[in-house]
Amino acid sequence: MKILVVGTGAREHALALALSRDPEVTGLHAAPGNPGIGEVATLHVVDPLDGAAVAALAVSLGADLVVVGPEAPLVAGVADAVRAAGIPVFGPSAAAARLEGSKAFAKEVMAAAGVPTADPRVVTDPAEAASALDTFGAPYVVKDDGLAAGKGVVVTEDRSVALEHALACLAKPGGRVVVEDYLDGPEVSLFVLSDGATVVPLVPAQDFKRVGDADTGPNTGGMGAYTPLPWAPEGLVAEVVAQVAQPTVDEMARRGTPFVGVLYCGLALTSQGTRVVEFNARFGDPETQVVLARLATPLAGVLLAAATGRLADLPPLEWRDDAAVTVVVASSGYPEAPRTGDPITGLAEAAAVPGVHVLHAGTAAGPDGSVVSAGGRVLSVVGTGPDLAAARAAAYAGVERIALDGSHHRSDIARAAAEA
Ligand code: AMP
Repeated sequence: MKILVVGTGAREHALALALSRDPEVTGLHAAPGNPGIGEVATLHVVDPLDGAAVAALAVSLGADLVVVGPEAPLVAGVADAVRAAGIPVFGPSAAAARLEGSKAFAKEVMAAAGVPTADPRVVTDPAEAASALDTFGAPYVVKDDGLAAGKGVVVTEDRSVALEHALACLAKPGGRVVVEDYLDGPEVSLFVLSDGATVVPLVPAQDFKRVGDADTGPNTGGMGAYTPLPWAPEGLVAEVVAQVAQPTVDEMARRGTPFVGVLYCGLALTSQGTRVVEFNARFGDPETQVVLARLATPLAGVLLAAATGRLADLPPLEWRDDAAVTVVVASSGYPEAPRTGDPITGLAEAAAVPGVHVLHAGTAAGPDGSVVSAGGRVLSVVGTGPDLAAARAAAYAGVERIALDGSHHRSDIARAAAEA
């Protein structure tokens, strides 16, 4: 099987690594990829947002499957362009990716499908925003309707901060804002594969969105993740499949826009029960890095079955009993103003730690075979082990061996769960 992976992040590196280990895979390509992905795949300089270019590349490679990693190409219709060229794609159409591309649309689908979520109000002007804040009260939850790379949501006790965020979102062309109920309780990410009709859940994970230890500072794209979740209630996965994923996939099919790919269910386990915090239309980063570290079933056949409407025929997925923890190494200034171009050393030393692999995110090739930082989240260091404490120790031992001037990482990823 020849596969083309679209994207540049650590999520795509994790996907490429898993695919490279699948004996069914005879050719692995990435557009545009990064230096880490380049160790396991052939890189192609193609704009991942350019559907025609991605489709042309897939055709020229004779690809049997295209896997689209990030949300922006999906919302831009890259999966549609590849499908129109007759090649199976793991990733939803632009119409189905609206589940992520518009929070107001996702709320409408959830309401139609009877999926439990925070009650929303969609507002389009400043006066409405102010009145919605007063209706809902503190803590205020204000969300940019459109894609914002993980930075569109503000949760705050401070009404003026909430209003300022709402006004900034409304000031954008076509700006809309969702104000909604605050959801208490721990969060869980569950990825559910869908072929448009049948759904297959992966294992739950938890990520850490705030930049600082103890969940302080601004939200980021994600600073770390772990799986399994020893504290998660038994039956959670079955409940989410029955109450959330299957009804949503059925509703999308009923609308004539079947959802093919991975439905990322961001959940809050509230005192009132499980609620959807958000949907994403693709694998989450950094949760993918830990979920795939535990998947024992070869990945290519699983993604191809989803892309070709054959998930019902797939044997049950097999999982390793191991735990996995990933710690994101971010560049100086992330998330506000990441500095790039700094040399990275110690990658081989980190990868030599037992149970550790290092996934590249914002990296670029530097002079003389070196690697330099090229983005906010630079590396995702994954540790695996027989339990969370061992996986965590491995991941941090890997992080310690890496040198990147000014970089920072959280020191408390999976700590509470490992100590419980
Ligand atoms: P989202 O991009 O919608 O996942 O939001 C980012 C983060 O904001 C979530 O992971 C939550 O931590 C937080 N958040 C979003 N919606 C709510 C809500 N209704 N109540 C409390 N926290 C929320």
